[in-house]
Amino acid sequence: KKKIAVMTSGGDSPGMNVAVRAVVRAGIYYGCDVYTVYEGYEGLLRGGDMLHKMGWADVRGWLSEGGTLIGTARCLAFKERVGMKKAAANLIEKGIDALIVCGGDGSLTGADLFRSLWPGLVEELVSEGRFTPAQVAQYRSLTIVGLVGSIDNDMSGTDSTIGAYSALERICEMVDYIHATAKSHSRAFIVEVMGRHCGWLALMAGIATAADYIFIPERAAEPDKWREDLKSVCKRHKNKGRRNITVIVAEGALDKDLKPITSEEVKDTLVEMGLDTRITTLGHVQRGGTAVAHDRWLATLQGVDAVKAVLEMTPDTPSPLIGILENKIIRMPLMESVKLTKEVATAIEAKDFDKAISLRDTEFIE
Ligand code: ADP
Repeated sequence: KKKIAVMTSGGDSPGMNVAVRAVVRAGIYYGCDVYTVYEGYEGLLRGGDMLHKMGWADVRGWLSEGGTLIGTARCLAFKERVGMKKAAANLIEKGIDALIVCGGDGSLTGADLFRSLWPGLVEELVSEGRFTPAQVAQYRSLTIVGLVGSIDNDMSGTDSTIGAYSALERICEMVDYIHATAKSHSRAFIVEVMGRHCGWLALMAGIATAADYIFIPERAAEPDKWREDLKSVCKRHKNKGRRNITVIVAEGALDKDLKPITSEEVKDTLVEMGLDTRITTLGHVQRGGTAVAHDRWLATLQGVDAVKAVLEMTPDTPSPLIGILENKIIRMPLMESVKLTKEVATAIEAKDFDKAISLRDTEFIE
């Protein structure tokens, strides 16, 4: 009987519970034992009760639960070989040799690395007398399947990540609230949203709420010149009769010299043109709440496919990432997506913004 463990790791996102529910139920449906790992890689290292066998009813109601009920954590020790060896021993102890990880590119890179080191780790555990060769005979390779849980929608090769549309929905709702008060007082509001290396949330929220101006990392602003541009755009909109002004700033917004564009600077610029200006940093409300319908079906279909991938994989299959492209659930080599994702950050660091934009799957508009 195949034993599969599922875990959430890295930053939480709405829909992670939905993915876990889908893995648990699809796993049971296909005749497997399914375990959840509490607290991400931390739980793998601690072993024992941190790996919990799940029944069908244990995930009842999880579709509408935000965040991740099995916990997530950052775990530095898992980056070390000794940490990974402990994790391997804990998995073998429970007879588990397949791991489905729902997390960001860091978590998925760690998972793939764990898989590549696994045979050597098992060998070491045997030579240290921890297990007999017979005990590990059927655990010579580890199966890894990745699901992307991220509110930033920052993974290359997939149209949307689990949680991104929920965060977007929350941002739009909050901006609508802000509009009401901003219009009443003819105020300008700067809304700071999450997205360290990825402007998707800021861009999509800007389109969905008719923002006057958007700052994102991929389309870096012209150093200092952006101030005049911002002023002239806002003036034009004002002249057309708009009472309120909304500027959306992604957390990672930059100018072309890689200098961060801060909400304070944007505020100062708007104050210079005589606008009564306030800053609202949305912060963690963007991660909270239940998943929107999009993320629920995405996480459900992807969770089911992750189980199918586990059952179909051979030791030679590259670790897959379950994605969605043009409305179809797809599998692609996990490390290829991670590599492409890292290329965006590298292009931004190298000030090659055209490349950064072209590497994004989303259509960035002029
Ligand atoms: P995210 O998955 O959201 O990108 P992090 O980059 O913080 O978040 O990664 C989450 C966890 O994944 C880390 O705390 C660590 O335990 C593990 N991890 C990340 N990168 C690696 C790596 N290169 N090797 C091993 N483990 C890693």
